[in-house]
This record gives sequence, C-alpha cells and structure tokens, in this order.
Amino acid sequence: MRTTVSRLRAMQRSLPVADRPRRPEWMKVRAPSAGTRYFDVKKLIHGASLNTICEEARCPNIAECWGRGTATFQILGDTCTRACRYCYVNSGRPAHPPDPLEPLRLAQTARTMGLKHVVVTSVDRDDVPDRGAGHYAATIRALKRAVPDASVEVLTPDFLDVEEEALQTVLAARPEVFNHNIETVRRLHRRMRGAKASYDKALWLLQRAKELADYPVLTKSGIIVGLGETNDEVVDTMRDLRAHGVDVVTIGQYLQPSARHARIDRWVHPDEFRWFREQGEALGFGSVFSGPLVRSSYRADEQRHAAAGRAPVAY
Ligand code: SF4
Repeated sequence: MRTTVSRLRAMQRSLPVADRPRRPEWMKVRAPSAGTRYFDVKKLIHGASLNTICEEARCPNIAECWGRGTATFQILGDTCTRACRYCYVNSGRPAHPPDPLEPLRLAQTARTMGLKHVVVTSVDRDDVPDRGAGHYAATIRALKRAVPDASVEVLTPDFLDVEEEALQTVLAARPEVFNHNIETVRRLHRRMRGAKASYDKALWLLQRAKELADYPVLTKSGIIVGLGETNDEVVDTMRDLRAHGVDVVTIGQYLQPSARHARIDRWVHPDEFRWFREQGEALGFGSVFSGPLVRSSYRADEQRHAAAGRAPVAY
C-alpha cells in the first residue's frame, strides 16, 4: 500500500499545478436525482428561508444527504466574520443581527423533514456580543420542543473571547453532541484559520464542554486533509483530541472551492484514510469516520449512534 501511495504522491508533486489530476476516481459524486428526497428537502429549506452548510460550503455530498432526507442547518445568517482559507462560506460584515424567528422556522422544518438527529452549525459572528451562543441555545430549545425524540448536534464556532460563558449558555440547552472542528494540524492552523483562531483553544473548548456539561455529552471534532499536513501530523492531531476527551473524529479530503482558496496539496488515497481510521480506533475514539468524502456532518446520525454505543465503529 505504502509503495503505491508514495508513487502516486511523488507523481502528483512532480507535476506542474495546472497539470495535476483534477479529481481522482474516488472523489466522484453523483448528481441529485428524482426518486430521492433531494428536491423535497430543497423546497422545504428554501421555503423556510433557512441556510444550510450543505449549500453554502458547496458540499460534495449534497445529492446523497438531501436524497436521504437529511441536511445540516446553518444559523446566524450567511456571512461569516472570519475568512478561513479553505472555506467557501461568504465572508465579511453581516448585514443583519441574528433573526429571532430562525430557531422556530428551523425546528418546524426539522419536524416536517422527520429528522431523528438534527445537526446545526453556523457562521462565526464575532460582531455579536455573545458570538451567537444565545441563538444556538434558542435553536436547541426550539428543536427539543418541536422534535422531542430527536437528538441535537451543534457544530459551533470558537466563541472568541467569551468562550466560557458561551459554552455554559449552549450546554444549558443540553445538545446531545457538541462538535467543534479543529480543522487542521497544529503547524498549519494559523495559516489556514487566521490569527483569531487557535489550535490550543479549539482543544480547550472541546475539553471544557465536557467538563461543564452536567449530562453525558458526546464531543466531536473534524480534520480536513490535503492542506499540506503529513499523515503523522494527522495522527498527532487525533492524539491531541483524544487527550482532551473527544469521542468522535471525522477525517475527509479538502476540496479547493475556488481559485482564491488554499490549493489542494495532495489527494489522500483511500488506503491512507483506512490507515487514519485504524490509528483513530487504536487511540480509543468511540467513532472514527475517515474517507475521501467524509465531512463533519456526513451521516452524523450514524456517527452518534456508533459512539453512544461506545463500540469503536469506523466508516
Ligand atoms: S455531509 Fe454534511 S454538509 Fe455535506 S451535504 Fe451532507 S449534511 Fe450537508
């Protein structure tokens, strides 16, 4: 395996950027099709004036996820106050304060969709005093009223400068899963995420969430590969996450969303994703989802069930 991968890697690196293979076979995705729930989901979400990270980040899995009737909601608007080098979400100064009716529309939509596990993420709102924590809590509470049998997963920003209070606010609403993505390895973190973000603060946030929760919250984080990291650095990052009590990890291939974003450094081979999974299992994660098209919210319901059962399950 290593020989094949090394040869592929050497070949990729030896080519001028313009000539590098654009997308290997294993990165191919299917298009949305009739006969699935894709168009129903689209109509519901757009009809409720909601945003999803599926669309905002141009996720390659949208046909599959929406086709099976799931989506990941993006609250707090469509404009992010950060500008991470890998992220396609619109960046700038948000034009509006958080919409107080958004939690209700989202909860009603989740109910109509029949979701059993609802994943909610957001843009960063460094312009809002509580960084959006109260809006997260309102959304979780609205979901627990509208879909009491569903579990709720939040994938939060880092709550710059109000971390402790924001965590208390969010966890008081009792989401079943608290997710904060570390995104990349320590060496690349500042370069990819900017000076406001911090690798160590991301680890602290994950550990502190578990300490503050007065119930057994699952913690989760995600790593993007193909940004210039080495495989050993990926394992080091998993080791750091486990040392901070993280239960679930996801690892997926970076896709460059536009020419102004960070360039893809390499296509990580499926065999390497399998190796990451084995390393993650050995480190003791409750669930390891590692694959080219894995995203933080990809089949999040299955990730949660795997980890809640505490049997190491891998994708
Ligand atoms: S992986 Fe997540 S972001 Fe991508 S389409 Fe599926 S639910 Fe949406």
